[in-house]
Amino acid sequence: MARYTGSVCRMCRREGEKLFLKGTKCMTDKCPLEHRNFPPGQHGRRRGKITEYGLRLREKQKMKRIYGLLETQFKNYFYKASRMKGLTGENLIILLERRLDNTVYRMGFASSRREARQLVRHGHFRVNGRKVNIPSYQLRPNDVVEVREKSKNLVRIKESLEVAEHRGSVPWLEVDPEKMRGVFKEIPRREDVPLPINESLIVELYSK
Ligand code: SF4
Repeated sequence: MARYTGSVCRMCRREGEKLFLKGTKCMTDKCPLEHRNFPPGQHGRRRGKITEYGLRLREKQKMKRIYGLLETQFKNYFYKASRMKGLTGENLIILLERRLDNTVYRMGFASSRREARQLVRHGHFRVNGRKVNIPSYQLRPNDVVEVREKSKNLVRIKESLEVAEHRGSVPWLEVDPEKMRGVFKEIPRREDVPLPINESLIVELYSK
């Protein structure tokens, strides 16, 4: 499976805002955006006015980067969302929020989506009692996600749970940090998803 192996902080600098891709580092003054809040590259500081197209493109790039997807994967989600009933932009967000790696992150078992993906791939989680190691696995209402017994002592997971307390919870998930398990109670509604994205710009971009 292809994946991005470059600097993730570079992505935040390109978008000009914190995308929280590196877990705890993002909360400290080690975050490069604290010192170099301008796009990377030789001409980073000299970039001019953004066009309408550029605005839509940046929004798409931002969303893709937040969820840690490559272009083709993101496009596939978009086309799937456009075939569903309802608003394409909202469907897109809901499909991405239902991913197992995103849910592991939101439940606090990982400090970033990137780390969540790695933990899922390494087989540290069960869904409804069965081991699942597919980060894109789509959760359904009442699915139970839990850390496998042999992984409960992992320092990474324990530390993430401590930090997650400050991140806040979301209404469609119920988490029991003591038992290291959580329930995906229902399909999230757009207004409940804390995501700094204007999804209609992405729909406009792909509708051209
Ligand atoms: Fe982005 Fe986090 Fe890197 Fe800061 S530390 S630039 S928020 S990934």
